Amino acid sequence: MRVALVPELVGKLTGLGYEVAVQPGAGVGSLSSDEEYVESGAIIEDDLSSADVVVSVQPLDIATIRLLKQGTATVSFLPVSTELGLVADLRDTGVTSFAMELVPRISRAQSMDALSSQALVAGYRCAIVAAGMLRRFFPQNMTAAGTIQPAKVVVLGAGVAGLQAIATARRLGAVVSAYDVRAAAAEEIRSMGAKAIDLELETLEGAGGYAREMTEDRAARQRDLLAPHIAAADGLITTAAVPGRQAPMLVTSAMVEQMRPGSVVVDLAAETGGNVEGSVAGEVVRIGHAQVWGGRNVPSQMPGPASRLYAQNIVNILTLMTAKEGEPLFAPDFDDEIVAGSCVTHAGEIRHAPTREALE
Ligand code: NAD
Repeated sequence: MRVALVPELVGKLTGLGYEVAVQPGAGVGSLSSDEEYVESGAIIEDDLSSADVVVSVQPLDIATIRLLKQGTATVSFLPVSTELGLVADLRDTGVTSFAMELVPRISRAQSMDALSSQALVAGYRCAIVAAGMLRRFFPQNMTAAGTIQPAKVVVLGAGVAGLQAIATARRLGAVVSAYDVRAAAAEEIRSMGAKAIDLELETLEGAGGYAREMTEDRAARQRDLLAPHIAAADGLITTAAVPGRQAPMLVTSAMVEQMRPGSVVVDLAAETGGNVEGSVAGEVVRIGHAQVWGGRNVPSQMPGPASRLYAQNIVNILTLMTAKEGEPLFAPDFDDEIVAGSCVTHAGEIRHAPTREALE
């Protein structure tokens, strides 16, 4: 389990003038003890009622939100499209809430980009899971007893997580090829030492450098063209996503059934609909000859580094929201693009327009 602040970063917040309180046992899942927080200058405290700002990984539940004083701010992941009821509660209780998913992906905000920091952890983990499940070597081995060929790994989706999965599988010696619908991805795939699969289909760039959703016709053609690449792979890792939508279904169970005995499939998107038909979040299922691993809360499977990176993102965004001088200390400037972009609710209103419209 991840935690939103690690002991080594407590000093950054006390240095800004904050008093830092940590819930008892909050760091246990990521191997940080209450004693370490205290040694770093925090106090251990279970009562949130006097807090000005509450930082967490997952959003607070409504019972906890009702304990906060009027005007308290929360900073956490907050998947607005699936948490409309919670957003309405945050509005009605007068809480100012910020969603880390909504931090704009501009260069000034890179150090606050928790989607990227957690995707990096998840992508690495996917490659390690595939290597661990595959009952053969990733690298080529040339020995006196003969040569063992390297594993062939296909990665679908080459955003932050996919590129990290490619880099990790390459470091372990696998022969990697990858596909993404964005034109810019091909060069990024090659720069990681993998082969960019060219399906000769139109690319699908959407707003903000993200992918667009496929039409069903485009999806069917993509599946047909990818099928032989997947059938020839020992390992398949899927990381494709389209913001605000269900994960695209890229691989049917019939395609997985074409894979050889002993093959492994790792579906990072299993929790958000699945890139692979039949994958189940948090479980390993068998499809044909392949073992299919469905990702569930994957960054939390490496809670130490995931928490360290997330905590740094949190400290950076809090620093942006801290007054340079005077009172109050926590004083987000709503004219700042990062503050405005990540704000979900403030002063009894929903500030995030798509969520406001969805609730109307
Ligand atoms: P994401 O998690 O939304 O999606 C993962 C990947 O899946 C993307 O590369 C996307 O193109 C791909 N994908 C979607 N549909 C697909 C399909 N049908 N078939 C194959 N692949 C498909 O993306 P992300 O990792 O968050 O990154 C998205 C973009 O944002 C990238 O261009 C990345 O370089 C960019 N980015 C910019 C910044 C910044 O400027 N601060 C930070 C992080 C990422």
